[in-house]
Amino acid sequence: MQNIKHPYDIKIDQSGEVLGDRLSNYLCPTLKEVPADAEVVSHQLMLRAGLIRKLATGIFSWLPMGLRSLRKIERIIRGEMNRFKAREVLLPAVQPAEIWQESGRWDKYGPELLRLKDRHDHEMVVGPTHEEVMTDLARREIRSFRDMPLNLYQIQTKFRDEIRPRFGLMRGREFIMKDAYSFDVDEKSANVSYQDMYQAYVNVFKRCGLEFAVVEADSGSIGGSFSHEFMVLADTGEDALAICPKCGYAANLQKAELKKYPVEEAPEGPLAKVHTPGCHDVPTLAKFLKVPESAIIKSMLFTVRDPDKIYHVLALIPGHRTINTVKLKNFIGDDVHLTDPATAEAVTGMPKGFVTPIGAKTKILADRAVIRMKTGIVGAGERDYHYAGARPGDDFKIDEVADLAESVAGDPCPRCEAPIEIKRGIEVGHVFKLGYKYSRSMRACYVKADGSEAFIIMGCYGIGLGRTLAAAIEQGHDKDGIIWPMALAPFQAILLPLETQNPEVAAAAEALFQELTDRGVETLLDDRDLRPGPKFKDADLIGIPIKATISRKGLEKGEIEIKLRQTREMILAPLSEAAAEIIRLRDEALCRQEAEGCR
Ligand code: ATP
Ligand code: MG
Repeated sequence: MQNIKHPYDIKIDQSGEVLGDRLSNYLCPTLKEVPADAEVVSHQLMLRAGLIRKLATGIFSWLPMGLRSLRKIERIIRGEMNRFKAREVLLPAVQPAEIWQESGRWDKYGPELLRLKDRHDHEMVVGPTHEEVMTDLARREIRSFRDMPLNLYQIQTKFRDEIRPRFGLMRGREFIMKDAYSFDVDEKSANVSYQDMYQAYVNVFKRCGLEFAVVEADSGSIGGSFSHEFMVLADTGEDALAICPKCGYAANLQKAELKKYPVEEAPEGPLAKVHTPGCHDVPTLAKFLKVPESAIIKSMLFTVRDPDKIYHVLALIPGHRTINTVKLKNFIGDDVHLTDPATAEAVTGMPKGFVTPIGAKTKILADRAVIRMKTGIVGAGERDYHYAGARPGDDFKIDEVADLAESVAGDPCPRCEAPIEIKRGIEVGHVFKLGYKYSRSMRACYVKADGSEAFIIMGCYGIGLGRTLAAAIEQGHDKDGIIWPMALAPFQAILLPLETQNPEVAAAAEALFQELTDRGVETLLDDRDLRPGPKFKDADLIGIPIKATISRKGLEKGEIEIKLRQTREMILAPLSEAAAEIIRLRDEALCRQEAEGCR
């Protein structure tokens, strides 16, 4: 690569990117203190290392050092998208309400959708995602079967007015997403598009140097039939995952199937009303009756909103388990939420904690485990009383049976029955098979070979760039700061001349800087006239993978000290071989990252 010398002696490569820079040129405001409102380590470190700054809740500015890492991940994503024949476009952030009304999401999306009016009183939205705009483009531009398969992607700013923006870039309101949309003539071709994006995502996260899992996922408000999430494993992750160490089954808990789990038998006997004063929750009742919690059948009222009406469902589950509301929602197929206590009392006419399924007028939906119970303890429908010996199906009706319970560690894997593990993950990418959801509602059609018309079949695929960087920091940090994977680091090497006033030290650092940048290493030279302490601290905080220290003492021996941020391994290299050694270390790290990754 031929580098162009710049008047300020900043090394620019031919695409205009800065290859080598001096810290004295930088806006890199590092902070000693942990910012008070930053809860998770990635948020704290992004602020402390001077990568980002907050403008308003969930809205952040990227500073130069952070932007370099953002550009890195952008390049990795772009490369993989292009490799899999997706084509880049750039769509508007502000969209007319009409297309959202057509798709039906104007009413469905709720308050996360930022709506505004222009000066002519036209309703608009700031795009939280771009299915509508993409489908609109497709219905105008795709004419015949010859125009497909087609995959279009963009890297663009989204806005979602999240109810709880938190953890910095992890759950912001404004954030950058790569979103891709595929258009195909039939199911078979749509599956190829889906598989391509799946593979592209595996490549992206491997190249980023992240440890991740791909899990079966719920398809959420975007809808559709099938989806996978790409999860970076980290304790601070918002998602809980069921992972089978034996067969590799992995699913979001919102989706994880639970075929069978242990329930302890309730004491048998005839149906009998028992006095249970003050026992309005499962643990208190179990303790009072000296029975396992699993002998109790919890009755919980849910409100269902379908397009035409609102109704209630009583869901039953053994007392030691919880209902996963997403599994419940997917089974029912409409919007479902736990009925608030006041409404529940009004609907059932029974006090909270004592609701009974016996004689219930609402529809009863039971978890799979309930029908395996011979008898259970249920509410008696009046304060301070329960029924013991209630037989599911006999003493009370069951209208439908479903898999409602949330999996816990040790539950049998739905594929191989080995005990599953529960891990936490950060969702960084999501691939969906959309099917005809948007093409039908927005009438995106094409002409088939026989001249007839058919709907286009679609898929959509998203990666959150800022969230991925935050996840990389969650996975790579220590008490001193960030430990970037080589592929995402803002610079690959940092040079620390310890006494910048010393002409030999300054000259050696300058020569190494020139050689490294000439040979294509992204290098930051800490040319600030500071004591060694703050220089080392900042270098560790920013987390550049290779650090070379140039000191008077070292130079006397003709050596430069090279240290790896990740392993803290130290190498003393002869001055003349320092650049070659740094290049070797960089290349080794990049190769290693590509080889590791997906579990
Ligand atoms: P979540 O369940 O975390 O809200 P989602 O399922 O709504 O995410 P998608 O609509 O699938 O997210 O968006 C694709 C990607 O965009 C996600 O995988 C994530 O990386 C990113 N993303 C979504 N919401 C946010 C947000 N509020 N802040 C930052 N990144 C986000
Ligand atoms: Mg969301």
